[in-house]
Amino acid sequence: MWQTTATAVRSGTEALLIDSPYFPDELEALPGLVAGAGFEPDGLLATHADFDHLLGRLAFPGLALGLGQATVERLHREPGAAQRDLRDHDAEFYVSRPSPLALGQVQGLPVPGRLELGDEELELHPAEGHTADGTAIFARTMGVLVVGDYLSDLEIPMISEGGSLGEYRSTLARLSPLVEAADVVVPGHGSPHDRDAALRLLDEDADYLDALERGDERPRLPSGRDTKAQRRIHAENLALIGSS
Ligand SMILES: [Zn+2]
Repeated sequence: MWQTTATAVRSGTEALLIDSPYFPDELEALPGLVAGAGFEPDGLLATHADFDHLLGRLAFPGLALGLGQATVERLHREPGAAQRDLRDHDAEFYVSRPSPLALGQVQGLPVPGRLELGDEELELHPAEGHTADGTAIFARTMGVLVVGDYLSDLEIPMISEGGSLGEYRSTLARLSPLVEAADVVVPGHGSPHDRDAALRLLDEDADYLDALERGDERPRLPSGRDTKAQRRIHAENLALIGSS
């Protein structure tokens, strides 16, 4: 469901985990899985404040969570929203958890900015438009770009409450040179892509935003994403654009 992604990055003995899976059994398996691959996270990062990206603490309860400043501000504007959304989705999908979500120690990070990781640095780039907040994390020396809810092979661009079409466009434009410099692009939902696949998704998403801006009721959706669920997201996008 959703095909959520979590990405571990490491330099020397220091490691960070970006975003999170959703299901309790995935979260329980995660520490062993990443340790088996040689990663022992010292901290957590999340690309934005949507609850499905904030669950790392359920797998690593002791670790602090680093968030872009806009994401910290959104959490303050919407106190308890992530916990509420998690409870609602759990109830809808009959998921029970051993413990509720507590975000614990949160550290705000300047975006754009850089974050030290071992001997290397992660680049933090603004990625707004899907929501009011968002950070793309680029481990340039590793060739890994983690974008959050953009460039998905499964999901069309989704403009949520607080997001905007104009900012979504700016984010795609900002991501373009980063994708060019990356080997692997990891979306929040779907599969990691190589550079060429990510560039194709970027073009498709820009075309989709054109159709959305025109108000097309039944635009051609990209192949692989022309589904009933994505048509529903399109209808929600149209409603949101119309009301803003
Ligand atoms: Zn998401």
